[in-house]
Amino acid sequence: MKILVVEDEAKTGNYLKQGLSEAGFVVDLAREGFDGMHLALTDSYDLAILDVMLPGIDGWQVLQGIRGAGKEMPVLFLTARDHVDDRVKGLEMGADDYLVKPFAFSELLARVRTLLRRGGKAKESDVLRAADLELDLMRRRVTRGERKIDLTAKEFLLLELLLRRQGEVLPRSLIASQVWDMNFDSDTNVIEVAVRRLRAKIDDGFEQKLIRTVRGMGYVLDTDAQ
Ligand code: CA
Repeated sequence: MKILVVEDEAKTGNYLKQGLSEAGFVVDLAREGFDGMHLALTDSYDLAILDVMLPGIDGWQVLQGIRGAGKEMPVLFLTARDHVDDRVKGLEMGADDYLVKPFAFSELLARVRTLLRRGGKAKESDVLRAADLELDLMRRRVTRGERKIDLTAKEFLLLELLLRRQGEVLPRSLIASQVWDMNFDSDTNVIEVAVRRLRAKIDDGFEQKLIRTVRGMGYVLDTDAQ
């Protein structure tokens, strides 16, 4: 899942980006209001975290732009000012939740997960399945049959992508942009290695193999594989 963070304080912004990435999200960080608005309107996000006081346009205006464009992703706003007025204003303007700075990262993560769970799209698909493989998005848990499978954050994202688009052959360029947030022209076999590791964890020891390579095209997860 992809999260937009708009925060001008370098320390807070980097801390959010790092923490959320480690928790398995793909994160774009904008440090200024106009950039944040531009990203929110041109890219697609599952959630946005907006600081209120920003250079350029402030968090309220970014929020207005997002809602004005009909984007319905959940929005969590961060405010340094512990004023009831701010909170009411934010919620009235279409924010879904707020957090007063300074906050504990665990608190932020809990709010983020709750918002994603509530957000319409995530609702029906909290658990993704293929055969006896299950990926629980909210509990960050993967099981195959009775076996619990430990994945790294990137492996989890990769499996989530394969499951969401199961039956479709996914080119490496798409996997690179969705999971690593990078362009594929970088000369790297990081995807190959990650898929190999993921496959070992998911398929080794099971008769039915779920992930396969389609030579020259990419990777697919389906339940027809041999
Ligand atoms: Ca600020």
